[in-house]
Amino acid sequence: MKLHEYQAKEILDRYAVPTQRGRVTSDPAEARRIAEEFGGKAVVKAQVHMGGRGKAGGVKLVQTAEDAEKETREMLGKRLVSIQNPAGMVVEKVLVTELIDIAKEYYVAVTLDRAAQKDVVILSRKGGVDIEEVAHSDPAAIIRLHIDPAWGLDDFQVRNLLREAGIDEVDHRQLGALIKGLVKVYYGVDASMVEVNPCAVTPEGKVLAADAKVLIDDNALYRQKEFAALQDESADDPIEAEAHRRGIAYVRLGGHVGVIGNGAGLVMCTLDEVARAGGKASNFLDIGGGAQADQVRKSVELVLMDENVRGLLINIFGGITRCDEVAKGILEAMSSLSIRVPVVLRLEGTRAAEGLALLEGSKITGAATMQEAAQKIVALCA
Ligand code: GDP
Ligand code: MN
Repeated sequence: MKLHEYQAKEILDRYAVPTQRGRVTSDPAEARRIAEEFGGKAVVKAQVHMGGRGKAGGVKLVQTAEDAEKETREMLGKRLVSIQNPAGMVVEKVLVTELIDIAKEYYVAVTLDRAAQKDVVILSRKGGVDIEEVAHSDPAAIIRLHIDPAWGLDDFQVRNLLREAGIDEVDHRQLGALIKGLVKVYYGVDASMVEVNPCAVTPEGKVLAADAKVLIDDNALYRQKEFAALQDESADDPIEAEAHRRGIAYVRLGGHVGVIGNGAGLVMCTLDEVARAGGKASNFLDIGGGAQADQVRKSVELVLMDENVRGLLINIFGGITRCDEVAKGILEAMSSLSIRVPVVLRLEGTRAAEGLALLEGSKITGAATMQEAAQKIVALCA
Protein backbone atom coordinates (compact mmCIF):
# COMPACT_ATOMS: atom_id res chain seq x y z
CA MET A 1 0.00 0.00 0.00
CA LYS A 2 1.06 3.55 -0.68
CA LEU A 3 1.53 6.17 1.99
CA HIS A 4 1.17 9.89 1.44
CA GLU A 5 4.28 12.05 1.56
CA TYR A 6 3.28 13.53 4.93
CA GLN A 7 2.84 10.03 6.39
CA ALA A 8 6.15 8.88 4.91
CA LYS A 9 7.91 11.93 6.37
CA GLU A 10 6.41 11.23 9.79
CA ILE A 11 8.08 7.82 9.66
CA LEU A 12 11.39 9.29 8.48
CA ASP A 13 11.20 11.67 11.41
CA ARG A 14 10.84 8.76 13.84
CA TYR A 15 14.05 7.27 12.45
CA ALA A 16 15.85 10.61 12.73
CA VAL A 17 16.10 11.06 8.96
CA PRO A 18 16.05 14.86 8.43
CA THR A 19 13.14 16.39 6.47
CA GLN A 20 11.67 19.89 6.26
CA ARG A 21 9.23 20.94 8.96
CA GLY A 22 5.64 20.81 7.77
CA ARG A 23 2.03 19.94 8.54
CA VAL A 24 -0.86 18.51 6.59
CA THR A 25 -4.21 20.29 6.25
CA SER A 26 -7.37 20.54 4.17
CA ASP A 27 -8.13 24.10 5.24
CA PRO A 28 -6.68 27.11 3.34
CA ALA A 29 -6.76 29.33 6.46
CA GLU A 30 -4.79 26.68 8.36
CA ALA A 31 -2.31 26.51 5.47
CA ARG A 32 -1.78 30.23 5.93
CA ARG A 33 -1.07 29.80 9.66
CA ILE A 34 1.38 26.96 8.97
CA ALA A 35 3.21 29.08 6.39
CA GLU A 36 3.35 31.97 8.88
CA GLU A 37 5.28 29.69 11.25
CA PHE A 38 7.91 29.41 8.51
CA GLY A 39 7.99 33.16 7.95
CA GLY A 40 5.70 32.91 4.91
CA LYS A 41 8.17 31.01 2.69
CA ALA A 42 6.57 27.64 2.11
CA VAL A 43 5.83 24.81 -0.29
CA VAL A 44 2.22 23.68 -0.78
CA LYS A 45 2.18 20.03 -1.86
CA ALA A 46 -0.83 18.01 -2.98
CA GLN A 47 -1.14 14.75 -1.01
CA VAL A 48 -2.22 12.33 -3.72
CA HIS A 49 -0.92 8.85 -4.52
CA MET A 50 0.89 9.70 -7.72
CA GLY A 51 4.38 10.62 -8.78
CA GLY A 52 5.38 13.68 -10.76
CA ARG A 53 3.15 16.04 -8.79
CA GLY A 54 5.53 18.89 -9.52
CA LYS A 55 4.94 18.65 -13.27
CA ALA A 56 1.18 18.17 -12.73
CA GLY A 57 0.90 21.45 -10.79
CA GLY A 58 0.71 19.79 -7.38
CA VAL A 59 3.80 21.45 -5.87
CA LYS A 60 3.77 25.24 -5.43
CA LEU A 61 6.60 27.29 -3.96
CA VAL A 62 5.31 30.45 -2.26
CA GLN A 63 6.97 33.47 -0.67
CA THR A 64 4.11 34.67 1.53
CA ALA A 65 1.52 33.13 3.83
CA GLU A 66 -1.26 34.75 1.76
CA ASP A 67 -0.01 32.88 -1.29
CA ALA A 68 0.11 29.63 0.69
CA GLU A 69 -3.58 30.13 1.47
CA LYS A 70 -4.37 31.02 -2.13
CA GLU A 71 -2.52 28.04 -3.64
CA THR A 72 -4.10 25.69 -1.10
CA ARG A 73 -7.56 26.95 -1.98
CA GLU A 74 -6.82 26.47 -5.67
CA MET A 75 -5.34 23.01 -5.23
CA LEU A 76 -8.02 21.47 -3.00
CA GLY A 77 -10.69 19.69 -5.00
CA LYS A 78 -8.64 19.93 -8.16
CA ARG A 79 -7.90 16.82 -10.21
CA LEU A 80 -4.20 16.32 -10.87
CA VAL A 81 -3.38 14.45 -14.06
CA SER A 82 -0.02 12.98 -15.14
CA ILE A 83 1.22 10.83 -18.00
CA GLN A 84 1.45 7.82 -15.67
CA ASN A 85 -2.00 8.57 -14.24
CA PRO A 86 -4.22 9.98 -17.03
CA ALA A 87 -7.42 9.46 -14.99
CA GLY A 88 -5.92 11.73 -12.34
CA MET A 89 -6.60 12.09 -8.63
CA VAL A 90 -8.53 14.69 -6.67
CA VAL A 91 -6.58 16.62 -4.04
CA GLU A 92 -8.15 16.39 -0.58
CA LYS A 93 -5.18 17.37 1.58
CA VAL A 94 -2.05 19.42 1.18
CA LEU A 95 1.24 19.31 3.03
CA VAL A 96 2.63 22.75 3.82
CA THR A 97 6.38 22.61 4.41
CA GLU A 98 9.00 25.25 4.97
CA LEU A 99 10.65 26.36 1.74
CA ILE A 100 14.32 25.52 1.63
CA ASP A 101 16.94 26.71 -0.83
CA ILE A 102 18.24 23.77 -2.81
CA ALA A 103 21.81 23.69 -4.14
CA LYS A 104 21.97 20.03 -5.15
CA GLU A 105 19.50 17.21 -5.59
CA TYR A 106 20.34 13.53 -5.15
CA TYR A 107 18.23 10.39 -5.56
CA VAL A 108 18.11 7.65 -2.92
CA ALA A 109 15.89 4.58 -2.74
CA VAL A 110 15.77 1.26 -0.91
CA THR A 111 13.72 -1.48 -2.51
CA LEU A 112 13.66 -5.16 -3.42
CA ASP A 113 15.62 -6.39 -6.41
CA ARG A 114 13.60 -9.49 -7.28
CA ALA A 115 16.08 -10.77 -9.85
CA ALA A 116 18.95 -10.64 -7.35
CA GLN A 117 16.70 -11.85 -4.50
CA LYS A 118 18.17 -9.11 -2.33
CA ASP A 119 17.23 -5.69 -1.09
CA VAL A 120 19.05 -2.91 -2.85
CA VAL A 121 20.08 0.68 -2.19
CA ILE A 122 19.89 2.87 -5.29
CA LEU A 123 21.78 6.14 -5.39
CA SER A 124 22.26 8.81 -8.01
CA ARG A 125 23.84 12.25 -8.02
CA LYS A 126 21.23 13.18 -10.63
CA GLY A 127 18.16 13.53 -8.41
CA GLY A 128 15.14 15.79 -8.65
CA VAL A 129 14.16 14.74 -12.13
CA ASP A 130 12.38 11.60 -13.18
CA ILE A 131 14.74 8.72 -12.34
CA GLU A 132 13.41 6.70 -15.31
CA GLU A 133 14.67 9.53 -17.49
CA VAL A 134 18.16 9.27 -15.95
CA ALA A 135 18.04 5.48 -16.35
CA HIS A 136 17.44 6.10 -20.02
CA SER A 137 19.79 9.01 -20.75
CA ASP A 138 22.64 8.27 -18.34
CA PRO A 139 22.34 4.78 -16.83
CA ALA A 140 25.90 4.97 -15.45
CA ALA A 141 24.72 7.72 -13.08
CA ILE A 142 22.58 5.23 -11.16
CA ILE A 143 24.51 3.05 -8.72
CA ARG A 144 23.14 0.00 -6.91
CA LEU A 145 24.31 -1.64 -3.71
CA HIS A 146 22.77 -4.97 -2.71
CA ILE A 147 22.19 -5.63 0.97
CA ASP A 148 23.42 -8.98 2.16
CA PRO A 149 20.43 -10.64 3.86
CA ALA A 150 22.64 -12.18 6.55
CA TRP A 151 25.16 -9.39 7.18
CA GLY A 152 23.15 -6.29 6.43
CA LEU A 153 24.87 -3.14 5.32
CA ASP A 154 28.41 -2.25 6.41
CA ASP A 155 29.70 1.31 6.71
CA PHE A 156 32.53 0.69 4.26
CA GLN A 157 29.98 -0.44 1.64
CA VAL A 158 28.04 2.78 2.08
CA ARG A 159 31.28 4.79 1.72
CA ASN A 160 32.12 2.91 -1.49
CA LEU A 161 28.62 3.52 -2.79
CA LEU A 162 28.90 7.27 -2.19
CA ARG A 163 32.27 7.36 -3.94
CA GLU A 164 31.13 5.24 -6.86
CA ALA A 165 28.07 7.45 -7.37
CA GLY A 166 30.27 10.54 -7.56
CA ILE A 167 28.66 12.23 -4.57
CA ASP A 168 30.53 15.35 -3.45
CA GLU A 169 32.94 14.50 -0.63
CA VAL A 170 31.45 17.16 1.70
CA ASP A 171 28.06 15.40 1.62
CA HIS A 172 29.35 11.90 2.39
CA ARG A 173 28.85 11.97 6.16
CA GLN A 174 25.28 13.31 6.13
CA LEU A 175 24.13 11.41 3.05
CA GLY A 176 25.67 8.19 4.41
CA ALA A 177 23.73 8.64 7.65
CA LEU A 178 20.57 9.37 5.67
CA ILE A 179 20.98 6.20 3.60
CA LYS A 180 21.48 4.09 6.71
CA GLY A 181 18.41 5.74 8.21
CA LEU A 182 16.32 4.87 5.15
CA VAL A 183 17.47 1.25 5.35
CA LYS A 184 16.31 1.18 9.00
CA VAL A 185 12.96 2.63 7.91
CA TYR A 186 12.71 0.02 5.14
CA TYR A 187 13.10 -2.90 7.55
CA GLY A 188 11.35 -1.21 10.46
CA VAL A 189 8.01 -0.70 8.72
CA ASP A 190 8.21 -3.69 6.33
CA ALA A 191 8.39 -1.40 3.34
CA SER A 192 8.72 -2.66 -0.21
CA MET A 193 10.06 0.73 -1.26
CA VAL A 194 11.45 3.84 0.42
CA GLU A 195 12.32 6.58 -2.05
CA VAL A 196 13.66 10.07 -1.47
CA ASN A 197 13.71 12.23 -4.59
CA PRO A 198 15.00 14.80 -4.25
CA CYS A 199 17.36 14.30 -1.38
CA ALA A 200 18.24 18.01 -1.16
CA VAL A 201 21.44 19.76 -0.16
CA THR A 202 20.97 23.36 0.98
CA PRO A 203 23.53 26.10 0.18
CA GLU A 204 24.64 25.79 3.85
CA GLY A 205 25.39 22.11 3.21
CA LYS A 206 22.54 20.49 5.09
CA VAL A 207 21.30 17.21 3.54
CA LEU A 208 17.59 16.40 3.92
CA ALA A 209 14.67 14.51 2.37
CA ALA A 210 12.62 17.06 0.42
CA ASP A 211 10.21 14.39 -0.81
CA ALA A 212 9.50 10.89 0.47
CA LYS A 213 7.63 7.91 -0.86
CA VAL A 214 7.02 4.79 1.21
CA LEU A 215 5.23 1.64 0.08
CA ILE A 216 4.29 -0.86 2.79
CA ASP A 217 4.30 -4.55 1.91
CA ASP A 218 0.62 -5.59 2.11
CA ASN A 219 1.64 -9.02 3.34
CA ALA A 220 3.12 -7.43 6.46
CA LEU A 221 0.00 -5.51 7.45
CA TYR A 222 -0.92 -8.16 10.01
CA ARG A 223 2.02 -6.91 12.09
CA GLN A 224 2.08 -3.31 10.89
CA LYS A 225 -1.26 -2.51 12.53
CA GLU A 226 -0.72 1.22 12.34
CA PHE A 227 -0.78 1.10 8.53
CA ALA A 228 -3.48 -1.55 8.25
CA ALA A 229 -5.86 1.09 9.59
CA LEU A 230 -4.91 3.37 6.68
CA GLN A 231 -5.36 0.77 3.98
CA ASP A 232 -8.95 1.50 2.99
CA GLU A 233 -8.19 5.18 2.69
CA SER A 234 -5.07 4.43 0.65
CA ALA A 235 -6.84 2.42 -2.05
CA ASP A 236 -7.18 4.48 -5.20
CA ASP A 237 -10.34 2.71 -6.29
CA PRO A 238 -13.52 2.94 -4.17
CA ILE A 239 -14.73 -0.56 -5.16
CA GLU A 240 -11.33 -2.07 -4.34
CA ALA A 241 -11.47 -0.31 -0.97
CA GLU A 242 -14.94 -1.72 -0.30
CA ALA A 243 -13.76 -5.20 -1.37
CA HIS A 244 -10.95 -4.97 1.12
CA ARG A 245 -13.37 -4.04 3.91
CA ARG A 246 -15.44 -7.10 3.00
CA GLY A 247 -12.39 -9.37 2.82
CA ILE A 248 -12.88 -10.17 -0.87
CA ALA A 249 -10.07 -10.41 -3.43
CA TYR A 250 -11.20 -7.96 -6.13
CA VAL A 251 -9.22 -6.07 -8.77
CA ARG A 252 -10.84 -3.62 -11.17
CA LEU A 253 -9.87 -4.21 -14.80
CA GLY A 254 -12.01 -1.68 -16.64
CA GLY A 255 -14.08 -3.78 -19.07
CA HIS A 256 -17.81 -4.54 -19.08
CA VAL A 257 -18.07 -8.29 -18.31
CA GLY A 258 -18.28 -8.93 -14.57
CA VAL A 259 -16.42 -12.08 -13.50
CA ILE A 260 -16.76 -14.15 -10.32
CA GLY A 261 -15.07 -17.47 -9.75
CA ASN A 262 -13.60 -19.62 -7.01
CA GLY A 263 -9.84 -19.91 -6.87
CA ALA A 264 -7.41 -17.38 -8.35
CA GLY A 265 -6.29 -19.76 -11.10
CA LEU A 266 -9.82 -20.49 -12.27
CA VAL A 267 -10.70 -16.79 -12.22
CA MET A 268 -7.64 -15.89 -14.32
CA CYS A 269 -8.50 -18.67 -16.72
CA THR A 270 -12.04 -17.26 -16.94
CA LEU A 271 -10.61 -13.82 -17.74
CA ASP A 272 -8.67 -15.40 -20.60
CA GLU A 273 -11.80 -17.10 -21.92
CA VAL A 274 -13.73 -13.82 -21.83
CA ALA A 275 -10.93 -12.19 -23.82
CA ARG A 276 -10.87 -15.09 -26.28
CA ALA A 277 -14.61 -14.72 -26.81
CA GLY A 278 -13.98 -11.07 -27.71
CA GLY A 279 -15.05 -9.47 -24.43
CA LYS A 280 -13.29 -7.37 -21.85
CA ALA A 281 -13.59 -8.29 -18.18
CA SER A 282 -14.52 -5.58 -15.70
CA ASN A 283 -12.76 -7.23 -12.80
CA PHE A 284 -11.02 -10.12 -11.11
CA LEU A 285 -12.96 -11.57 -8.18
CA ASP A 286 -12.08 -14.72 -6.29
CA ILE A 287 -14.71 -15.82 -3.75
CA GLY A 288 -12.16 -18.23 -2.30
CA GLY A 289 -12.56 -21.81 -1.17
CA GLY A 290 -15.63 -22.94 0.79
CA ALA A 291 -17.49 -19.66 0.26
CA GLN A 292 -20.88 -19.39 1.97
CA ALA A 293 -24.03 -17.94 0.41
CA ASP A 294 -23.48 -14.61 2.15
CA GLN A 295 -20.00 -14.22 0.66
CA VAL A 296 -21.41 -14.93 -2.81
CA ARG A 297 -24.16 -12.33 -2.38
CA LYS A 298 -21.60 -9.73 -1.25
CA SER A 299 -19.40 -10.55 -4.24
CA VAL A 300 -22.22 -10.12 -6.75
CA GLU A 301 -23.10 -6.82 -5.10
CA LEU A 302 -19.50 -5.67 -5.35
CA VAL A 303 -19.07 -6.47 -9.04
CA LEU A 304 -22.30 -4.66 -9.87
CA MET A 305 -21.11 -1.48 -8.10
CA ASP A 306 -19.13 -0.87 -11.27
CA GLU A 307 -21.45 1.12 -13.54
CA ASN A 308 -19.75 -0.25 -16.66
CA VAL A 309 -20.76 -3.85 -16.01
CA ARG A 310 -23.22 -5.08 -18.64
CA GLY A 311 -23.35 -8.75 -17.65
CA LEU A 312 -22.08 -11.18 -15.05
CA LEU A 313 -20.26 -14.46 -15.57
CA ILE A 314 -20.07 -16.78 -12.58
CA ASN A 315 -17.73 -19.72 -12.98
CA ILE A 316 -17.64 -22.20 -10.10
CA PHE A 317 -15.77 -25.46 -9.93
CA GLY A 318 -16.94 -26.94 -6.64
CA GLY A 319 -14.32 -28.79 -4.64
CA ILE A 320 -14.40 -27.53 -1.08
CA THR A 321 -16.89 -24.98 -2.33
CA ARG A 322 -20.39 -26.44 -2.46
CA CYS A 323 -22.33 -25.52 -5.58
CA ASP A 324 -25.65 -25.43 -3.71
CA GLU A 325 -24.22 -22.82 -1.30
CA VAL A 326 -23.15 -20.74 -4.29
CA ALA A 327 -26.58 -21.13 -5.88
CA LYS A 328 -28.22 -19.96 -2.64
CA GLY A 329 -25.98 -16.91 -2.62
CA ILE A 330 -26.83 -16.08 -6.20
CA LEU A 331 -30.56 -16.41 -5.45
CA GLU A 332 -30.17 -14.17 -2.38
CA ALA A 333 -28.39 -11.64 -4.52
CA MET A 334 -31.03 -11.85 -7.25
CA SER A 335 -33.84 -11.21 -4.77
CA SER A 336 -32.18 -8.59 -2.54
CA LEU A 337 -30.48 -6.57 -5.28
CA SER A 338 -32.43 -5.64 -8.34
CA ILE A 339 -30.02 -7.19 -10.80
CA ARG A 340 -30.29 -5.29 -14.04
CA VAL A 341 -27.83 -7.33 -16.10
CA PRO A 342 -27.86 -10.84 -17.59
CA VAL A 343 -26.14 -13.57 -15.57
CA VAL A 344 -24.47 -16.63 -17.06
CA LEU A 345 -23.51 -19.45 -14.73
CA ARG A 346 -21.29 -22.45 -15.10
CA LEU A 347 -21.59 -24.72 -12.08
CA GLU A 348 -19.56 -27.91 -11.86
CA GLY A 349 -18.39 -30.22 -9.12
CA THR A 350 -19.53 -30.84 -5.54
CA ARG A 351 -23.34 -30.78 -5.31
CA ALA A 352 -23.70 -29.20 -8.76
CA ALA A 353 -26.99 -31.01 -9.45
CA GLU A 354 -28.48 -29.68 -6.19
CA GLY A 355 -27.28 -26.19 -7.05
CA LEU A 356 -28.72 -26.23 -10.53
CA ALA A 357 -32.04 -27.53 -9.17
CA LEU A 358 -32.22 -24.52 -6.83
CA LEU A 359 -31.72 -22.16 -9.75
CA GLU A 360 -34.44 -23.66 -11.91
CA GLY A 361 -37.04 -21.08 -12.85
CA SER A 362 -34.66 -18.14 -12.28
CA LYS A 363 -33.52 -15.85 -15.07
CA ILE A 364 -29.98 -17.23 -15.00
CA THR A 365 -28.53 -18.64 -18.21
CA GLY A 366 -26.71 -21.91 -17.69
CA ALA A 367 -23.60 -23.12 -19.48
CA ALA A 368 -21.98 -26.53 -19.50
CA THR A 369 -18.39 -25.37 -19.98
CA MET A 370 -16.33 -22.31 -19.17
CA GLN A 371 -15.82 -21.60 -22.90
CA GLU A 372 -19.54 -21.76 -23.58
CA ALA A 373 -20.22 -19.52 -20.57
CA ALA A 374 -17.72 -16.93 -21.82
CA GLN A 375 -19.21 -16.93 -25.33
CA LYS A 376 -22.75 -16.57 -23.98
CA ILE A 377 -21.96 -13.67 -21.64
CA VAL A 378 -19.94 -11.82 -24.27
CA ALA A 379 -22.85 -12.16 -26.72
CA LEU A 380 -25.31 -10.91 -24.08
CA CYS A 381 -23.07 -7.92 -23.26
CA ALA A 382 -22.59 -6.86 -26.86
P1 GDP B 1 7.06 15.17 -7.02
O1 GDP B 1 7.05 16.01 -8.26
O2 GDP B 1 5.74 14.51 -6.79
O3 GDP B 1 8.19 14.21 -7.01
O4 GDP B 1 7.23 16.19 -5.79
P2 GDP B 1 8.56 16.73 -5.05
O5 GDP B 1 8.28 16.83 -3.62
O6 GDP B 1 9.74 15.94 -5.45
O7 GDP B 1 8.68 18.22 -5.62
C1 GDP B 1 8.94 18.49 -6.96
C2 GDP B 1 10.07 19.48 -7.11
O8 GDP B 1 9.73 20.69 -6.42
C3 GDP B 1 11.37 19.03 -6.48
O9 GDP B 1 12.13 18.23 -7.36
C4 GDP B 1 12.05 20.33 -6.20
O10 GDP B 1 12.76 20.78 -7.34
C5 GDP B 1 10.89 21.29 -5.94
N1 GDP B 1 10.80 21.51 -4.49
C6 GDP B 1 10.12 20.81 -3.57
N2 GDP B 1 10.31 21.31 -2.34
C7 GDP B 1 11.14 22.37 -2.49
C8 GDP B 1 11.73 23.32 -1.56
O11 GDP B 1 11.53 23.29 -0.34
N3 GDP B 1 12.53 24.24 -2.11
C9 GDP B 1 12.80 24.34 -3.43
N4 GDP B 1 13.62 25.29 -3.86
N5 GDP B 1 12.28 23.48 -4.32
C10 GDP B 1 11.46 22.50 -3.85
MN1 MN C 1 9.80 13.84 -5.88
